[in-house]
Amino acid sequence: MKIKKSDQEWIEQLSPEEFYVCRQHGTERAFTGKFYNFKGDGIYSCVCCGAPLFDSETKFDSGTGWPSYFEPFEGAIDEYRDISHGMIRVEVRCSKCDAHLGHVFPDGPEPTGLRYCINSVCLTFQERED
Ligand SMILES: [Zn+2]
Repeated sequence: MKIKKSDQEWIEQLSPEEFYVCRQHGTERAFTGKFYNFKGDGIYSCVCCGAPLFDSETKFDSGTGWPSYFEPFEGAIDEYRDISHGMIRVEVRCSKCDAHLGHVFPDGPEPTGLRYCINSVCLTFQERED
């Protein structure tokens, strides 16, 4: 079941930057986000709906200035073809609320060979409990 809210509802719930990136397909500037150089042990979730998206064990330092992961939780992410900005890319969105998260590229590390390049502003982090 997808979560559907009006723009007005999202505006009331999110910060202006969160709304711009997650709901209007924006991109945060590289090396400005809170998670690109963050190494906590835990779970990253969708800032819009709280759905778990990535485990910190799949995070790697891609050097791009955005947090990067090689594998999302199963079923957590939907992929869409994106032909904006003169490039053919694969956009990734939260499968539960359709939040724009970033893009996936085929140049990541093993075992998947994928690089999920995600905007920090789309994520919240919860430290793992023992
Ligand atoms: Zn979501």
